[in-house]
Amino acid sequence: MTDPHIRLLPPEVARQIAAGEVVSRPLDVLRELLENALDAGSTRLEIEVERGGLGLVTVRDNGRGIPAAEVGLAPLRHATSKLGEGGLDHVSTLGFRGEALWAAAQAGELTLLTRPAGQLGAAHLRAQGDAVTVTRASAPAGTSAAVRGLFAGQPARRATQAPPASEVREMTALLGRYVLHHPQLYWRLTVDGEVRLSHAPGDHRGAVATIYGPVSANRVLPLAAAGISGVISRPELTRARRDRLHFAVNGRPVQAPAELEQAVLDAYAELLPAGTAPLAVLNLSVPPAAHNPNVHPSKQVVALADLPGLAAQVREAVAAALAGVPHVRALPDLR
Ligand code: ADP
Ligand code: MG
Repeated sequence: MTDPHIRLLPPEVARQIAAGEVVSRPLDVLRELLENALDAGSTRLEIEVERGGLGLVTVRDNGRGIPAAEVGLAPLRHATSKLGEGGLDHVSTLGFRGEALWAAAQAGELTLLTRPAGQLGAAHLRAQGDAVTVTRASAPAGTSAAVRGLFAGQPARRATQAPPASEVREMTALLGRYVLHHPQLYWRLTVDGEVRLSHAPGDHRGAVATIYGPVSANRVLPLAAAGISGVISRPELTRARRDRLHFAVNGRPVQAPAELEQAVLDAYAELLPAGTAPLAVLNLSVPPAAHNPNVHPSKQVVALADLPGLAAQVREAVAAALAGVPHVRALPDLR
């Protein structure tokens, strides 16, 4: 170090660092746009990805749209319609920080084409860096949000991106988790012009069929308990890995704490051969004040109050769903 004096970062550098924590790769753009579409009450979500998401990530929804008078605020930092009087302890939406669209516009070119059902014309917004333009347009009710040319102006960030095929794999897996936890919605994913995934509204079993195929779907049991809903696999459908244990908290797919995964395994007890795991899709409904999604920028790690109590509830719910299933000898991975 030749210059030991403490100075503030130039604003544009500080901005790029902060935005980079929210959007550091195409997967982040997809997650944020999906959250926005779900928060808008959408029932149809159509996703398009080009060149591993570096070329384009679009999410088109049929949700409530953004009023023309407000759309110009959407890409401003900390601008949100979601944080009410109750503050951070009462968040019931997936988003709440008002940073995603801002970060997307710092990282690439953001466009929104949006219209609330009750408004005659649509608004078309284009934002890049701090330059925002809004024009009139026509469009169906809902919002189409697109990010193009991600990191085109940041060679260092661009150079450290995963190869497109591997990013697409992760984006497809992320979308799969959303489909599993929100099976009542219509979903479609197009990658470089080719439909990769499409799901017609149905129940959890239908979502398992979409993501893992009919063999798995025919071997799941519905699970419904106070605060927990989803499906689990019959004991004969086992995996050598825990890669099909999917948890969501209030509809947000999360990385489950090990205690919750263990609770599922414990409920199967001797029904599962040692070292194997079932398939489980479990959505936990917890009061907003009992969990904190604000521990990591991706919000995929959540802090849950009373984890032991929650684990006990999960274990009981899984055990109850399994009760009455005749004991069948486990077969190896059936997929
Ligand atoms: P946050 O989701 O944390 O509020 P965002 O930057 O993701 O922040 O979005 C800013 C605001 O733009 C949201 O609060 C919402 O009012 C609006 N918005 C963004 N995407 C959509 C959408 N798909 N449908 C309706 N409104 C949207
Ligand atoms: Mg958001």
